[in-house]
Amino acid sequence: MEATMNGRKGISVNWEGSAICRPMIVVKPERISELIDIINNEKKYPTPVRAVGFQHSMTRCAVADGGTIVDMRNFDRILEFGQRHVRVQAGIRIHDLVKALDNRGLQLCACPEFGDISAGSVACTSNRYISSQGILGQLSSTVVGMKLVTPLGTKLNLTAKQPDMLNIMRSSFGLLGILYEVTFAVRDKIGFVVERRQMDIDDLSLAMAGLKSDGTGVRLTLYPFSGKAQLETRRSVKLGTETRQWIPTLRAWGWNCWVPFVAQLLKRLIPSSRLRGKQLDILLFQAQKTFARLFPDRTTEMSAVCLPSSRLPKWGRCTYTTWAFPADDFSILAEKYVAFCRQYEREHRFRCDLPTKAVLVPKDPASLLSYAADGDVYTLDVFCSGGKGWEDFLIDLNQFCSANGGVPLLNQTKLLSQRQAVMGLGRKLVTFKRLRRTVDRQNRLSNTFYQPLVG
Ligand SMILES: Cc1cc2nc3c(=O)[nH]c(=O)nc-3n(C[C@H](O)[C@H](O)[C@H](O)COP(=O)(O)OP(=O)(O)OC[C@H]3O[C@@H](n4cnc5c(N)ncnc54)[C@H](O)[C@@H]3O)c2cc1C
Repeated sequence: MEATMNGRKGISVNWEGSAICRPMIVVKPERISELIDIINNEKKYPTPVRAVGFQHSMTRCAVADGGTIVDMRNFDRILEFGQRHVRVQAGIRIHDLVKALDNRGLQLCACPEFGDISAGSVACTSNRYISSQGILGQLSSTVVGMKLVTPLGTKLNLTAKQPDMLNIMRSSFGLLGILYEVTFAVRDKIGFVVERRQMDIDDLSLAMAGLKSDGTGVRLTLYPFSGKAQLETRRSVKLGTETRQWIPTLRAWGWNCWVPFVAQLLKRLIPSSRLRGKQLDILLFQAQKTFARLFPDRTTEMSAVCLPSSRLPKWGRCTYTTWAFPADDFSILAEKYVAFCRQYEREHRFRCDLPTKAVLVPKDPASLLSYAADGDVYTLDVFCSGGKGWEDFLIDLNQFCSANGGVPLLNQTKLLSQRQAVMGLGRKLVTFKRLRRTVDRQNRLSNTFYQPLVG
């Protein structure tokens, strides 16, 4: 087992650079026996113990100040391909898994668009992806088995025969154990077709009212300051020969890498946030519209939109926070959100300089703390290049979201307060808290991020 740094020198930083942490030790185990030793030997591996994958979370959920970071990336093998499942080690990169399945004519039952993330992290945290017929909005909900080392240092093997335990573990956030193996449900490859419509935000309610509830996926792009929106619908289809993969790949690269990069570049060139925000809004909306017109998608393979990694310099990256809202009233919520952004801008001279996205996630009670447990939701994904004013904005945004019935994603909602977490997740959070305290009396796996939220 490799120990890579000690607390005096070492710091560990997440993708966007916001979660700086000073662990006492970072270890990279290769065997399960080493994982057990890490949990049992508190002297050598101080509390808190946090398993991490690629540290691509935007929040501080993977920090372990003064404690132990367990880098799981040596657990990177695919152990078994089945007709309807794949069993992998928890540190494998999802992009590598997607490609390996693709070569066998198979795919995951969710469609991640950023693949530089580990199987272990997505199996036990809240995530959100665009769904379509036969494709879920959360990867964690497609987990049908997992193996872990509990906070007591014992091994636990969960299969589909223990649905209640799996339900709890799918949203356990690394607090009830370190996952070393995950089994995902898989399916034969299908493709999707996309339709895009650009419109004024004022026309969004009407357009959304006309959406079919037949499993069609929906993604919205909102430009609060230019009053524009794009409505994108996605239908699953059988894969034919007429596929063209480079356009969706290019589009995914554009949104995940180049758009944030351009936002950061503009920030340096045009320091005035008012001017810059408006210009970028208009520029991006026009670019999105032109791209959609010039390059209409044909049938797309899901693997084409799973990006391997973002090699952009740290200064060119963006950040985001996420909440979820009942789908029925989402067009009203979107109106209120636009008004909130404009008012905030007037009062504080701060605006998010990237468009906001929203993704429809169908009802999904597969995990205890699922944000979509009670019905279909839209996630509200607020993107920004960050910097001065962003954290203050988040505080007001959280109040707005919480007051409007928002449900947080515990690992993806930034600067969340305990009250807001309880308001959003209700009794289920209390149940989880009790369970966590029973399973981990010594608080071996809890860190400063989760402690205030889940006790
Ligand atoms: C460019 C970009 C695009 C993104 N797009 C999306 C998106 O479309 N949808 C979405 O939902 N998210 C998205 N994300 C967020 C990211 O996908 C998730 O946060 C993901 O879980 C990060 O994976 P990771 O391996 O880096 O996990 P980490 O950040 O390393 O860890 C995440 C959490 O999981 C825990 N954990 C990790 N491994 C284990 C394990 N083996 N056992 C127990 N607990 C563990 C950690 O302690 C931590 O709490 C994006 C991030 C970036 C940078």
